[in-house]
Formats: sequence, C-alpha cells, structure tokens
Amino acid sequence: MLPREAWLDLARKLDWTFRYVSESQLFPDAPSGTTRVPPDDWRRWEEPFKTSYREYVAAQHEKERAVRAVREAVGRPEHQRRIPRPWLNANKFHGAALPLAEFAAAIGNLRAGRFARDSAWRTMALFGAMDELRHTEIPLLLYHELVKWDPQFDWVHRFYHTNNWVAIAARHLFDELLLAANPIELAIGTNLVFETGFTNLQFVALSGLARDAGDPMFETMVKSIQTDEARHAQIGRSVLEILVESDRAYAQRLVDKWFWRTWHLFSVLTGFSMDYLTPLSARRASFKEFVEEWIVTQFLEVLEAHGLERPWYWDTFLTSLDHYHHMVYASAYTYRATIWFDLVVPGPEERAWLAQKYPASWPALAPVWERVDAGWRESDPDLDFAAHGTAIVTFCDTCQLVLCEGTPARNTAQTLVRGERKYIFCSEPCRWIFEQEPERYAGHLDVVKRVLAGQAPGNLTAILTQYFGLTQETWGRDVERGRYDWLDRPAKPRPPQRSAAEAPDERQP
Ligand code: FE
Ligand code: FE
Repeated sequence: MLPREAWLDLARKLDWTFRYVSESQLFPDAPSGTTRVPPDDWRRWEEPFKTSYREYVAAQHEKERAVRAVREAVGRPEHQRRIPRPWLNANKFHGAALPLAEFAAAIGNLRAGRFARDSAWRTMALFGAMDELRHTEIPLLLYHELVKWDPQFDWVHRFYHTNNWVAIAARHLFDELLLAANPIELAIGTNLVFETGFTNLQFVALSGLARDAGDPMFETMVKSIQTDEARHAQIGRSVLEILVESDRAYAQRLVDKWFWRTWHLFSVLTGFSMDYLTPLSARRASFKEFVEEWIVTQFLEVLEAHGLERPWYWDTFLTSLDHYHHMVYASAYTYRATIWFDLVVPGPEERAWLAQKYPASWPALAPVWERVDAGWRESDPDLDFAAHGTAIVTFCDTCQLVLCEGTPARNTAQTLVRGERKYIFCSEPCRWIFEQEPERYAGHLDVVKRVLAGQAPGNLTAILTQYFGLTQETWGRDVERGRYDWLDRPAKPRPPQRSAAEAPDERQP
C-alpha cells in the first residue's frame, strides 16, 4: 500500500476548474458568503491535521468505547445520587443548553461541507458535522438514563422544543450562528471564537472541576467531546488567515460580533456552574480567573497573531467580567421557577470566597443575597415561591437575556427607535450588533412582547406552565428547599404560609 504522505494531499485537494457553470452559480453568495477575497486565494486553504477518513473513523471509534465504558461504570442514577446537588444542576443546565445546539452545528458544518470555497476545508467541515452528531448523541444517551430518576433531566431533550425564555435566547443565538451562517461566518463565529476561545471554559476547565466535584461521567463526556474541538477550531484559524489578507474589516466585525454573543452565553452557562454550582471544596479558581487565562490571554494572542484588534468594547467586557454572571445568577435565582433546574443560595463560606475573588463587584451584590436570606427567613421551607419575583422582567432585543449588564448602581441599558418600534438592549455591544444587521433581528419578539401581543399569558404561573413548558414537578426550586443550617430561621412563631400569588416581589437586582 502507498504510504500516507504519497496520496493524502492528492485526495484532500480535489478542486478543479468548472467549465459548464460559473463560480457564482456554484457558490452563490447566500450559502457561500460574500467577501473581498479573490476566489483563487481560497485554494491556499491549509490546516495541520490532514486526517484521512479511515484515520478519522478509527480514532472516533476508540473515543466512543471510552465513553461507553464510563457510562457502564458511573452513568447510573445510583452514581448520580452521590453527586453534590448544586453540581448535579450544572449537569441539567449543560445537558439542555448544548446537545441540541451541537445538532444545529452538524447542519452548519454540512452546509460548509458543500458551500465552503476549498475542497480540504469542505472535507474538514464534513468531519466536523460527524463530530457534532457525536456531541449531540453522547449527552442525550448519558442523561437519558437519569430521566426516570429525576424528571428535570427530560429537559436535556425537551429544552429547545419549548418556549422557555432561556431556550428563546439560546435559539436566537444558535439559529443565527449555526443554522443561518454561511461557511465563512460559521468558521469565524463557531470555529474560531466559540471553539478556540470559549468552549475551553466549559469543556476543559469545568471538566477538571467535575472530577473534584465527584462527577467522572461529566468529566469524561466533555473531555471526549473536546478532543474533537481542537480539530474544528483549526478550520477557523485557516479561514481567518486568508480572510484578513483581503477583507480585514469583515473579519474584525465577525470577531467583534461573535465574541460578545458567545461571551454572554458562556458567562451564564459556565459562570453559574463555576462560581455557584461547584462545591467550594472543588473550586480551584473563579470563573473570572479562568476567563482571564483562557480568553484574555490565550484568545487575544490568536487575534494578535492574525493582526486583528481586540473587540472595540474591550473595557465594557472587562467590567462585565466582574458583574454580569453574578447579576444574571441573582436574577435567575429570584425567578428560579422559570427554569428547569434548581439553584442554590451561596452560604456564608461561598460568599466569603466570592468577596475575595470579586472585590470590585461583590460588595454591591452581597445585599441582594441578604434580601434573599430575609425572604427565606420569613417563609416556611419547601415553599417554591419564597424569595421569588412575580413581575415580568425586561429582555435585551439582541441577546434575549434579562437586562443585567452594568452594575447594580449603573444600568447600561440602551434604546433604539426603528420604524414604529422601540428596541431595548442590555449594553452598547448588543445595540451595535443589532445596528449592523437590523433586518436580521428586528422582527424577533422577546418574551415581554409575546405577552403584549397576546401570544403568551402574563400571569407568572400561567406562563410557566402554558408557555415555558414547565410543570410543578420540573420547575426550578431552591436546591435545599430553603433549609440552610446557616439561615438562622426564627423558631416560632412562623408567619402563615403564602400562596404564589401573594409571594413577595423580589425583583431582579
Ligand atoms: Fe461540538
Ligand atoms: Fe444583550
């Protein structure tokens, strides 16, 4: 048999000159993307992995075997029962937010497998599509076993099929990034920004914490998925290399847009998990410290190496790093019945840790939790709506998340009037993203506008059950049902139990 080096290059580079169709018929603008790059420049596309299909299949098969072995060893409810409850909820968040988004990534990669401008790139995108199917199937398989034990795990599959507010926000992001993007935007947004920068936080750093939290199943699952990411991250760098030569401005705009959108997603997903749901004994560094290492240092080096600038809103990002996920967590806690997993009140030791890790922001955040403490002290344990908000909150017209940028003292919300409609944004970068492509976003209705349009009920319990798809069995609660040793609840007399409708109005900070 011929040695690999003798044939691989021939098999990877299969572009030829088309005589019966034009370049633009073959690669129309909409599915292929429009740039200033001359078509022939894409022929220089190169990446270091140079995998053949045979090698790909053999390597993936080995990875599958390793995951199955771990599932047999530690993937049963009896194992999960031993995991600290807050951490178990990091699993429910991860399990819902990512697997079906990975399926959307399979579709994005399949589009690149046809419409990307170079044959080696198309081949890598096809491997990428097969990877993403694996990333969908592994968590669906592993978490399925847990549904009969805990119905909230049903949301691993259910989440993206609901109109839960988090699902609306996640779909708004992933539909654009993975289903609607052309191969160039997919390469910069997904392969470069998402996979080179941010997935490291959830799939590498959090995997290490999972081990210390006593959850080898999560550790193995995300590690196995991450081994594929390095290969597709490379697609992004190779596309960027050619793109910056002829169309630097477009490359910079795509990086700036997707950095901010991806930052919001991971700051909620990984931020909650690292700074609130990981047991204190397993925490090695704060979310902010991980971001400083993986993003502020390493990802910036990648941008600099390609001659790109840091995103224009860098100072806003650095402020956000101290505040944003804390603000969203406090907001989510006080509206926990609107989500499908349980949240925890940070205890005195956790608060001391957070105060030490976030000296710039924690003094302003601590009073929020003191109000939550007071809410629980006045209520009986087990009450789902103790220390819970009742008024509907406002969402950003770009990221579709609650308006939590800025600090408790300084609201950074921005508005924009376009036609008949007034739009509101959590931050300057979210408004900037909207203004770049208003036709892409302007028609979308956030939860509040759906209520105003009569598409969703305005009453809290009605929207939870009739629109968000939750039930009393699955809606989020306090992990400890409010039974914290440190809470110092007055022994007697207790005030009479309140119904949901009478629950105190603890608005988001
Ligand atoms: Fe993936
Ligand atoms: Fe926003």
